[in-house]
Amino acid sequence: MGLMLAFFRAYRWQTVLMMLALLLSGVAEGVGVSALLPLLNIALGPEAGSAIPGASGEDQSEFEQVILDVLAFFGIAPTLGSMLLIILGGVTFKSVFLLLAQRQVGYTAAQVSTDLRLQLLRAILRSKWEYFLHQPVGRLTNAMASEAQRAATAFVNGTTALTFLIPGIIYAGVAFALSWRASLVAIAAGVVVIGLSHFLVNITRKAGMKQTRLMKSLMANLTDTLQSVKPLKAMSREYLADQVLAHDTNLLNKSQRRQVLSAAMLNSGQELMFTAFICLGIYVAMEKFDMALTTVMVLVVALGRAFSYFGKVQKQYQKLAEGESAYWSLTESINAAETAQEDLKGGIAPRFDKSLTLENVHFSYDKHAVFKGLSLQIDAGSLTTLVGPSGSGKTTIIDMAIGLLRPQSGEVLLDGVPLRDLDISQWRRMIGYVPQDTILLHDSILHNVTLGEPSLGAEDVERALRAAGAWEFVNKLPQGLDTVVGERGGKLSGGQRQRIVIARALINQPRLLILDEATSALDKDTEEAVTQALDDLKGQLTILAISHNQAMVTGADTVFRLSEGSAVRSEAASQSGFAK
Ligand code: ADP
Repeated sequence: MGLMLAFFRAYRWQTVLMMLALLLSGVAEGVGVSALLPLLNIALGPEAGSAIPGASGEDQSEFEQVILDVLAFFGIAPTLGSMLLIILGGVTFKSVFLLLAQRQVGYTAAQVSTDLRLQLLRAILRSKWEYFLHQPVGRLTNAMASEAQRAATAFVNGTTALTFLIPGIIYAGVAFALSWRASLVAIAAGVVVIGLSHFLVNITRKAGMKQTRLMKSLMANLTDTLQSVKPLKAMSREYLADQVLAHDTNLLNKSQRRQVLSAAMLNSGQELMFTAFICLGIYVAMEKFDMALTTVMVLVVALGRAFSYFGKVQKQYQKLAEGESAYWSLTESINAAETAQEDLKGGIAPRFDKSLTLENVHFSYDKHAVFKGLSLQIDAGSLTTLVGPSGSGKTTIIDMAIGLLRPQSGEVLLDGVPLRDLDISQWRRMIGYVPQDTILLHDSILHNVTLGEPSLGAEDVERALRAAGAWEFVNKLPQGLDTVVGERGGKLSGGQRQRIVIARALINQPRLLILDEATSALDKDTEEAVTQALDDLKGQLTILAISHNQAMVTGADTVFRLSEGSAVRSEAASQSGFAK
C-alpha cells in the first residue's frame, strides 16, 4: 500500500484523472445492471416478479420502485427496448471510461519506470567518486533494467486492483439495495475468505523480496565474473564461476516456484469459495426472506460480479506485493546515491595561471593510509611526470587534483585557492583527461573526438587532431573524419587510438592535460608518435602524466618519484624536449 501512496503522491493529477475515469466507468456499469430488474419483470411477466401481490418478500419492490421513479423522472417508459438500450448504453460508457482509465494507467506506468531510471542514472553520475567506486556495475544494471520494470508493473497491478475495486463496490451496492440482509451474509463470508487467504499474498511478498535480493547479487556476480572470464577459461576453472552463479540462479527458481504456487492457490481457492457464498446468498434470499425469482436472479448477477471483482482485486494485490520490493530497493539505491552527491557548483571561479599544489595532504581509503603529509607543486605550463611503484598513490594524486577525492586533511590548492572553495564543475571543464584504456566508440572519428557535443564542428576536431599528432593519418583515410573506427576502435592501431583519445581530451582547449598511464602500453613507434605530439603541446598547457615510459620521464620538466607516501622531486634531465 505504501508503494501506491508514494506513486499517487508523485503523480497527483494522473491519479485524479484515472480515479475519475474509473468512477464514471463503475457508475455506468451500475446503471446498466440496475435496468436488469425491470427488464426481467417485463420479460418474464408480472407473475415471476415483484409485482405479484404477497411475493414482495422484503424490500425488493422498493428498489425496483426507485428505478422506475428515476426512469419516470427522465421520461423513459419501462419497456423492453428502453431497458435493453440502458443496459447497452451502460456497458458502452463503462468500456469507454475503462479504456481512458487504463490508457492513463499505462502511460503513467511508462513514466514511472522512465522517471525511476533517470533519477537513478543522474544520482549515480553525480555521486562522489568514493561512492561510485563501491557500486557493483551489475547491481546498477539490474536496478535500471529489472527493478525499474518490476516497480512499474507493480504500479500497474496496484491501479488495476483499483480498476476492479470500484465496480466491485458498485455491484455490492446494487446487491445491498436488492436485499441488504442476504448480501450482508454473502459479503461478510467473502470478506472472511479474503482475510484468510491473505497469507498467500504474504508468501508472494516474501518470494518477491527474495527475488529482489537474489537478482541483485546474481547480476553483481555475473558482471564481475564476465569481466574476468579469460583467466578462468585459460586455466579451465570456469566451473568455479558456474558454481557461484548456478547457486543463486537455483535459489531464484525456488522462489519463483513458490510465487507461482501461491498465485495458483489463490486463483482456484477463491472461485470455489465465492461460488459457495453466492449459493448461500441465494438460499438465504429465497428460503428465509421469501424473495421473488427475478430479484434473486439480479442478486445472483450482482453478487457474482461483486465477488469476481473483489477476487481480482486480491489477485492484483498479490502481484503488487511481488514487485513492491523492487521499487523499495530501487528508491533505496536512488536515495543512497543522492545522499552521496558531489558538491560541484557555487564556489569561486577557478584560475590556473601559477600552480596546482598539494600541501601536507593526508589521505586514506577507509583505514588504509596512502599519504600522511604529502606536499608537491605542479607549475602551470610545465610537464610533470609522476613515477613510482604500483600502489604508491599516483592515481590518488590525480583524483585529488581533479577533485574526485578530497584529502582528509591538508589542502589541494589551485593558484593558492583551496579546491573545496572553487566551482569544481568549472575546474573540471578546464581539464583534459586521457585514461590508460583507449577504447573507442563504434562510430566515426569525428564523433569519437566530440563525443556528440553539438557545439563542436569539423574545424574544432581538426585542430584537436592536429594538436594530438593524429591529423596526418586521419586525413589519409579515404573517409577522413567520417571513418568508422570499428568495434572498440579495432580498425585503428593502438597508437592511432591513443592519439584520437588525446584529441578528445584536447578538443575543449583544456588548461590541464592529465595522462593517466596513457603511454604505458605503447610500442616503440607508437610511443614516439605520441611523445612527439606531447612535446609539441609543451608550453601551451600544463601536462600531468603518470608514466613509466622513459621518454615521459626524460621529457618532463619535473618528475616526482613516489614511494611510501612521500614524493621526491627531481628536475628534468633534459630541458630540450623528449629524448628521441
Ligand atoms: P598507483 O596509481 O600508484 O598504482 P593508487 O593511487 O591507485 O596507486 O593506490 C594507492 C593505494 O591505495 C594502493 O595501495 C591501493 O591498493 C589503494 N587503493 C586505491 N584505490 C582504492 C579504493 N578505491 N579503495 C581502497 N583502497 C584503494
